[in-house]
Amino acid sequence: MKVTPMITTQATLVKKYDAPSGEVSLVTFQLESMCSFQEWQFMMISKEINGTVIKRPYSIASTAQQLLKEKTMSFYVKKASEKGMSARLTQGIKLGDIVTLQWPVWHYIDNKIIKNYLFISTGSGISPNLGIFQSLIMEEQQAYNNLVFLFGERTYAHIIPEVEQTLYAHNKLDITVQTHLTQEKKVWYLHGRVQQSIPEAIKKTSTDVQVFLCGSPTMVQETKQLLIEQWISSKSITIEKW
Ligand SMILES: Cc1cc2nc3c(=O)[nH]c(=O)nc-3n(C[C@H](O)[C@H](O)[C@H](O)COP(=O)(O)OP(=O)(O)OC[C@H]3O[C@@H](n4cnc5c(N)ncnc54)[C@H](O)[C@@H]3O)c2cc1C
Repeated sequence: MKVTPMITTQATLVKKYDAPSGEVSLVTFQLESMCSFQEWQFMMISKEINGTVIKRPYSIASTAQQLLKEKTMSFYVKKASEKGMSARLTQGIKLGDIVTLQWPVWHYIDNKIIKNYLFISTGSGISPNLGIFQSLIMEEQQAYNNLVFLFGERTYAHIIPEVEQTLYAHNKLDITVQTHLTQEKKVWYLHGRVQQSIPEAIKKTSTDVQVFLCGSPTMVQETKQLLIEQWISSKSITIEKW
């Protein structure tokens, strides 16, 4: 485990992309001071809301390269309350608004030795996977053999178009991206849960794969069990749940 020092910085909202439902947003902040981080780590975001300072953890949905080049960091947030931080970040916040970010310490992933990747996420669980996915596809020298990205949402209206573009904006045969809708049938989308695509995904990646799994506690528990039944070692499964 590599330790990143605890640092606090002010950050200004500079970009916000919303899903048509208005309940999911990708928010990008410009940071006043910098610190190194690794994809799959999370930040504490705090802001005064109605006279009380609220502080919540959010996984980083952008890359370390983006931070270096643009001094920005993005978060993928799903509304989970009426008055809390997620309501503010998806609906109340405006460009130019300031929040406080604090670097915590979390997963340290040595991805130099990983060759096959399977990303599985539902809802806002896509956040940490987005960061690591983007950093992998941006690398000059291809750092993987096969990469499968499975994502699940309730309806099409919960998907942010700009995030979808990021997922599909590559033209590589060794990358498979599949979006699943549980509550809606739509052309080009798989109908049902992400779990249904796991056997096919493992045919592409082999069981020698590093899995990054993020979603609700129930989804993560069920999916991890399914992966173990498909002969994936539990040591190869990195999980995050909220
Ligand atoms: C390590 C980690 C990383 C995380 N990363 C992300 C991320 O990348 N993206 C993301 O979206 N979230 C993420 N979360 C969750 C996030 O930290 C917050 O818990 C979430 O956004 C809810 O915060 P809140 O202040 O809006 O809601 P809170 O006020 O904290 O409410 C929490 C829960 O209370 C209930 N609740 C509150 N108000 C209402 C209401 N009016 N009606 C019904 N139920 C209500 C809901 O069940 C809600 O989920 C992460 C959590 C952890 C632990």
